[in-house]
Amino acid sequence: MAGSISVEAQVETVIDLDAIAHNVRILREYAGDAAVMAVVKADGYNHGAVEVGRAALAAGAAELGVTTVAEAVQLRTAGITAPILCWLNNSDADFGAAVEHEIEIGVSSLEHLRSIDAAARAIGRTAIVSLKVDSGLNRNGIAPLEYPAVLAALRRMVDEQVVRFRAIFSHLAHADEPEHPFLDVQRDRFVEAVAAAKEHGLEPELVHLANSAATLTRPDLAFDMVRPGIAMYGLTPIPELGEFGLRPAMTFQARVALVKEVAAGEGVSYGHQWIAPHDTTVALIPAGYADGVFRPLSNRFAVWLGGALRPNVGRICMDQFVVDLGDNAAGVVEGDTAILFGADQPRAQDWADLLGTIHYEIVCSPHGRVVRRHVGGIR
Ligand SMILES: *Cc1c(COP(=O)(O)O)cnc(C)c1O
Repeated sequence: MAGSISVEAQVETVIDLDAIAHNVRILREYAGDAAVMAVVKADGYNHGAVEVGRAALAAGAAELGVTTVAEAVQLRTAGITAPILCWLNNSDADFGAAVEHEIEIGVSSLEHLRSIDAAARAIGRTAIVSLKVDSGLNRNGIAPLEYPAVLAALRRMVDEQVVRFRAIFSHLAHADEPEHPFLDVQRDRFVEAVAAAKEHGLEPELVHLANSAATLTRPDLAFDMVRPGIAMYGLTPIPELGEFGLRPAMTFQARVALVKEVAAGEGVSYGHQWIAPHDTTVALIPAGYADGVFRPLSNRFAVWLGGALRPNVGRICMDQFVVDLGDNAAGVVEGDTAILFGADQPRAQDWADLLGTIHYEIVCSPHGRVVRRHVGGIR
């Protein structure tokens, strides 16, 4: 699928926009009557926010979600006109830019509302505001004690036509454990928060709660819209429950820089952590921890090269690592493509298992010299 690597890049991520579109269609099926907001924060989980955003919208997503005003402005500047929500900003963020670009602001405090009020009045245009209520994650979101004051302030701003009130939303703490009783606690608190807003005369256009895991396993939490991120990139949010038909969109690959013989008894890479047990052939992969190949993977992971998995031998360095080809019966030569992880094997999940983390962190890690290339989709 990813094909051979482009000559300009020694190491690259290839992002399959057809996989993104496929995954969005699956999420739309699970969402039922609810709309889909495609979450493209953190540069689209390191897949490219603009390209993924366009592909997701073309495949039927209704809106895009990001964290900061700056991320949202980047999407607008690229010509995306769909609704965009941003939900994690300091209160001195550039809300003026959000107002100018018709970006919906997720509010977590009274202080946010004060800044938005000032920005909207200064520009003379209406701000679009959504309330992010904290229903028990105790992270971002309006604290329950502050909620009544936020509602009162928002009501005044709506009456004075300083803001348009768009939505109420919240985020789940245990979505990856679909039977966890705290999901119901959060649902009940969320429904109460919506009711309290209505008592203040604040009628949201939309309410939304579900991330990828909840979209795929808890249809009762879909409300008016779901906000999947990781599943759109083709990674199952609950590996124990299977793949849900999703297709990983990112392939991390590099071109072999050198193929050489190593004699029995010779050590490979810093500290000679691996000694060749017999005469062998190795390939040098020009990607290292500066590119997102985690050093703790040393001697523990493998790449797909020459039609088989080839184990890393010796330490991963800043710029390079070595894999063992044995007798190199496959005839691997300089310039061949080694897949570090992708849609087949190995996968981001394999790295996550080895490192004791989640695949979210793995796909966010390629950086530095890594060149990103998009394939498929409509661009
Ligand atoms: C990141 C994020 C999502 C998407 O979460 P996934 O687990 O990737 O589906 C949804 N909503 C909010 C508020 C988020 O921060």
